Amino acid sequence: MGEFELIRRYFAAAACARAGGEVALGIGDDCALLVLPAGEQLAVSTDTLVAGVHFPDSCDPYLLGQRALAVSTSDLAGMGATPIGFTLALTLPTADSSWLCEFARGLDAMAAGCSMRLIGGDTTRGPLSMTLTVFGRVPAGQALLRSGAQPGDLLCVGGALGDAAGALPIVLGERESDTVEAAALLRRYWTPQPQLALGRALRGKATAALDISDGLLADCAHIAAASRVSLCIEQSSVPLSKVLLGFAGAEQALQCGLTGGDDYLLAFTLPAEALPALLDEGWPIHVIGHVTSGEGVQLLDAGGNAIGVGPRGYNHFES
Ligand code: ADP
Ligand code: MG
Repeated sequence: MGEFELIRRYFAAAACARAGGEVALGIGDDCALLVLPAGEQLAVSTDTLVAGVHFPDSCDPYLLGQRALAVSTSDLAGMGATPIGFTLALTLPTADSSWLCEFARGLDAMAAGCSMRLIGGDTTRGPLSMTLTVFGRVPAGQALLRSGAQPGDLLCVGGALGDAAGALPIVLGERESDTVEAAALLRRYWTPQPQLALGRALRGKATAALDISDGLLADCAHIAAASRVSLCIEQSSVPLSKVLLGFAGAEQALQCGLTGGDDYLLAFTLPAEALPALLDEGWPIHVIGHVTSGEGVQLLDAGGNAIGVGPRGYNHFES
């Protein structure tokens, strides 16, 4: 199977590769053509996933396809953008039909859930890796930036944290478990659901936002730095799922929730007046702290006292 046959069979023929919406021209020419509605800006983000670094060398290609697109699309959610499409630059050691078929099926499944279209890419031979570039649209001036948090704002997250990090030992083959709990955590690792609708609902309301990919503390530090404020997180308010607490135990679950990566949920700051209406609309918003003047991230215990978070991150478990 040559390069062009491979592209045609597995990617150009995929359901998610059909033109439509803002995609005037998809796969097959030198460039895709996108049409942006008047008054909207193009949101663009790129992520590379390398085998052995970002995912295990041997993993289920269907899940990998889903995860690769979810992780990339989550950046659009973090900006409050509406997905348009994505490109896929794929480097493969061999053209294995069943691998490609499953990988493309996984991409297709996530693309359907996220209203994403595959608009082009590149296919090369080499060690397995993939670069996905996602394109979205957002009304001019309404994108959710990291830089607008104000002292007095609430700090919120879009769901229970740490589940994917809790699954990591299983993903890496360091722990075996075939319990219902393990399966639930593995789903959170392999098929994160980008919070696109929440991102859109936060436009014009959140003062700063991002998607949590590197862990709550690390990503909140990005908002703090960009906004030149301090973010205070109440440790006891960090939402942790019952599944994670049961699987990992309270201490490890908290560690996962604070520093584990791969959540792909939104963290954002919000004036307190904006919260009731959003809660009434049913959004899964958890208030975990607030914004003050100053710099960096402060983790607070139940009494409001700071728990050490140095430049190296959370060190609650260091003696
Ligand atoms: P060019 O040589 O002009 O860069 P290619 O021969 O690499 O074009 O690709 C032909 C067409 O197939 C282009 O439209 C490109 O975007 C698309 N394409 C190539 N690889 C992929 C892929 N992995 N997924 C989706 N589309 C792809
Ligand atoms: Mg090319």
